Amino acid sequence: SSASPSASSAAPTSSAPASDAASPSAPAAGGKIGVAMPTKSLERWNRDGAFLKKQFEAQGYTVELTYSDNDATKQVNDIENMIADKVDLLVIAAIDSQGLSTVLKDAVDAKIPAIAYDRLIMDTSAVAYYVSFDNYTVGKLQGQYVVDTLKLDVNDKSKTYNIEFTAGDPADNNARFFYQGAYDVLKPFLDAGILKVPSGQIAFDQVATPKWTTATAMNRFQNILASFYSSGTQLDVALCSNDSTSLGVTQAIQSDYKGKNTVVITGQDGDEANLANIIDGKQSMTVYKAVANEAVVTVDLGIAMLKGEKPDGALIDKSGWKFSCTFDTKTYDNNTGIIPSYLLVPTVVTIDNLQKELVDTGYYKMDGKYPKA
Ligand code: BGC
Repeated sequence: SSASPSASSAAPTSSAPASDAASPSAPAAGGKIGVAMPTKSLERWNRDGAFLKKQFEAQGYTVELTYSDNDATKQVNDIENMIADKVDLLVIAAIDSQGLSTVLKDAVDAKIPAIAYDRLIMDTSAVAYYVSFDNYTVGKLQGQYVVDTLKLDVNDKSKTYNIEFTAGDPADNNARFFYQGAYDVLKPFLDAGILKVPSGQIAFDQVATPKWTTATAMNRFQNILASFYSSGTQLDVALCSNDSTSLGVTQAIQSDYKGKNTVVITGQDGDEANLANIIDGKQSMTVYKAVANEAVVTVDLGIAMLKGEKPDGALIDKSGWKFSCTFDTKTYDNNTGIIPSYLLVPTVVTIDNLQKELVDTGYYKMDGKYPKA
């Protein structure tokens, strides 16, 4: 978890001078940021936490960083402690998107603003901003990858393909966006009968994976293979919303699938184990999200908020980030109204561009055959 993106792709350090230049009087030394991440057991959050801590500290802030073992109750306690410790700003990647209303009411009472990091926090007006990648686009990229790889054409029904879906955690507000994005791209082909789902499992709740757990995804997929593919039915595509689920599905296919064809398997995040699978030809693609840049946006936004500014789209120009980001005031309604959002742009990574996108950019280093963050 020590990736050091090059300056050309907005290393954490490269954006700092830009912010300083825009407002030389910052930062207010002594400010304290509470950063609540979900779990250390999923690779990316270790990177997010480390980047956020390092970048806020580089700007003169102290950071209280917690991981809550994917336990929603523990995360509430961790945030309560941060409020008691009088942090000046909360940055939260929620475990249960709908379970933070009460604790965030305490934050509002204590005049501590909150940024929803990566996952939107629902049902509370305490959330001032949302920083994420465009989650719907992540799913669309996965669906489009399937369309392109199989060269699907709605008017050509001469060949049909079997697909199974694996989505994310129902408690994570992102999970439905990912799934919907993929589904919307594939729907015309499902409707035309070109894509078929032998298990019949298509509804989000049928394909969801509580807590995004690899073992849960693996067990479900083993059951699907045993029930619907044991008598020679060919599986062509396993659409998986992210790498932790993709890893489990790939394991199930490696051990329990009898067909000889290469199954198209999607993912998201660029976890090390999955990049190794891509290099070994076991996973087809991953949607990469440069979390170092997500941290850059969050730090610049957080500091602007602490200075009493009301950041909007102008923050993007002012900050001079060397990566794409949009300011969105339409998409993310958390049931209390639209939450203004800074959305970064995800990238498709396959064996063909892995070196260029992940290694040449400095996000990963090759360690023998495989990339390491
Ligand atoms: C994140 C994904 C991640 C998943 C599981 C989602 O909210 O956006 O990047 O794979 O959680 O941790």
